Amino acid sequence: MSDRFQAVVIGGGPAGYVCAIRLGQLGIKTACIESRGSLGGTCLNVGCIPSKSLLNLSEEFHKVQNLADKGIEVGEVRLNLTKMMKSKDKAVTILTKGVEFLLKKNKVSYFKGIGSLKSKNEILIKDDQNKESLIHADKIIIATGSLPVSLPGIDFDEKIIVSSTGALKLEKVPKKLIVVGGGYIGLEMGSVWSRLGSEVHVVEFLDHITPGMDKEISIEFMKILKKQGIKFHMKHKVESIKKDKLGAIVTTSDKDGNKKNFECDVVLISVGRKPNTNNLNLEKIGIKLDDKKRIKTKDNFQTNLDNIYAIGDVIEGPMLAHKAEDEGIAVAENIAGQSGHVNYDTIPGVIYTTPEVASIGKTEEELKEKDIKYKIGKFSFMANSRAKAIDDTEGFVKILADEKTDKVLGAHLIGPHAGELIAEIGIAMEFGASSEDIARTCHAHPTFSEAVKEAALSVDKRAIHS
Ligand code: FAD
Ligand code: NAD
Repeated sequence: MSDRFQAVVIGGGPAGYVCAIRLGQLGIKTACIESRGSLGGTCLNVGCIPSKSLLNLSEEFHKVQNLADKGIEVGEVRLNLTKMMKSKDKAVTILTKGVEFLLKKNKVSYFKGIGSLKSKNEILIKDDQNKESLIHADKIIIATGSLPVSLPGIDFDEKIIVSSTGALKLEKVPKKLIVVGGGYIGLEMGSVWSRLGSEVHVVEFLDHITPGMDKEISIEFMKILKKQGIKFHMKHKVESIKKDKLGAIVTTSDKDGNKKNFECDVVLISVGRKPNTNNLNLEKIGIKLDDKKRIKTKDNFQTNLDNIYAIGDVIEGPMLAHKAEDEGIAVAENIAGQSGHVNYDTIPGVIYTTPEVASIGKTEEELKEKDIKYKIGKFSFMANSRAKAIDDTEGFVKILADEKTDKVLGAHLIGPHAGELIAEIGIAMEFGASSEDIARTCHAHPTFSEAVKEAALSVDKRAIHS
């Protein structure tokens, strides 16, 4: 195998492997270096996929215990956590192997090892036996992703004090789980373990969960999670976490300095993630970082060195797999002389709890802050016939449209299949549609998507079913 490539991607996550595949499709001689021993990055190995598998399985476990009222009587339902974890692991293995196949199919060379920059055009690869090799590249794409952050002075042991990685592979259901941080990871993993039987307490620094989300949705979301049994301790910060024989004691304090001790078996720290710029030798070759230690890039993903690019979690923007993938495609197309582009105004965010929460575009708070005049259309799933038919009526759709032009500026959903429904609004926004365009589009009956149509009608105060 030659050691000269037109492009080398460091990192085999959604940013890196997608970029490598697209480069391969465009006929560019490409290599992809990945250090974890399997492709797919955080997302496939310890993120999106295992968490969605456990969210689904724990939801099935919960649902099956609550079917009697609907005329479906089952015998005793028991949890076999080992089998459940195996099922999750199987999904991960199938998908990561699938990525390996796709690299091969697109003639991308795959190197297993830690990549670092020796110079502007040379990459050193150290494998797990510490054997080093050097490869050359005209263009280098850094896609090394992100890592969980802990609290100052507290280390993850991934058994008692866990990051999401440990929370995805606990060997038994904790009696009491303390979740520090009410964001994406805390609420998804908190939901999983709550459904499997843990008493879950979320300790959150702010007065609301999921910062950055439309406030009305965030309030409704917390109400629903509380009904499901998750307990919230808002405006609380963690003072210390001390391990003992049984687990840990988490000491928190509120805004007035009142302290509380939580005894628990497991603490999940989910207070955000940091860009992974370790081991790359960036300083030596002079690649600039921003104030949050992310790699600084221009609009075309170029760093300050013009043959080196960066994409995904390691640069600015939401830490989401689909954002990373789109950047991977855009940078590959730019390198091939095309016009790759990512529209950051239409990147959806989805939380895969029950119900799901999905969001795209501007929130009401952002529109107010920017002094943009807007109209609101809202429709509750309570009045949606499909939701009624299957008794899944929590939540609503909220559409924000420009007051004058009616152009859709944002949409925020909480409810059944919200994560799928948001795609319709994404397409509408990409095409610059108005809420009237959505309202005039025929939606099949009976579907959840009719709630989107009705919310669009409601922007003009003419929803039919409410
Ligand atoms: P990563 O996926 O982190 O991949 C980077 C890869 O680079 C890693 O595999 C790493 O091993 C490798 N690497 C690092 N340094 C080197 C080096 N020097 N040499 C070689 N290889 C290196 N996002 C969503 O959109 N939807 C979800 O449902 C979702 N769920 C999540 C659940 C959890 C629990 C977590 C933790 C994250 C979740 N995310 C989700 C976020 C998503 O996983 C990330 O945004 C996404 O993986 C970022 O892709 P990336 O390629 O930039 O980085
Ligand atoms: P997050 O940014 O989503 O949430 C962190 C939460 O912790 C916030 O509510 C914040 O106010 C709170 N917090 C921060 N410091 C705190 C402290 N000292 N004490 C108490 N609370 C504190 O971060 P996350 O949940 O760790 O997830 C990291 C990223 O991974 C997400 O931002 C998201 O980009 C990605 N992710 C996405 C999905 C998805 O798309 N479904 C799922 C999981 C993770």
